[in-house]
Amino acid sequence: MLSLLFKGFILWIIWHMLRAMMRPSPPIPSQPYQPDHASPDILMQPCHICHTYLPVTKSLRDQQGRYYCCELHRQAGDSKP
Ligand SMILES: [Zn+2]
Repeated sequence: MLSLLFKGFILWIIWHMLRAMMRPSPPIPSQPYQPDHASPDILMQPCHICHTYLPVTKSLRDQQGRYYCCELHRQAGDSKP
């Protein structure tokens, strides 16, 4: 009886090992990760008033070239040196 259980256990282990070997492994990328050239690094600048960092494309600028997060802060920046 014990030997039958032992044989079943061995068969169960072999079956699991075969299943693990048959399982397709995830594809390994042939080249290391390359940054996407379609999305270049976004230049961030702090707001002159509240120092919140914003992408340059989304921030406002004044004549002195200072960056602002919103129109209210740009108007406040006119009075602030
Ligand atoms: Zn701001």
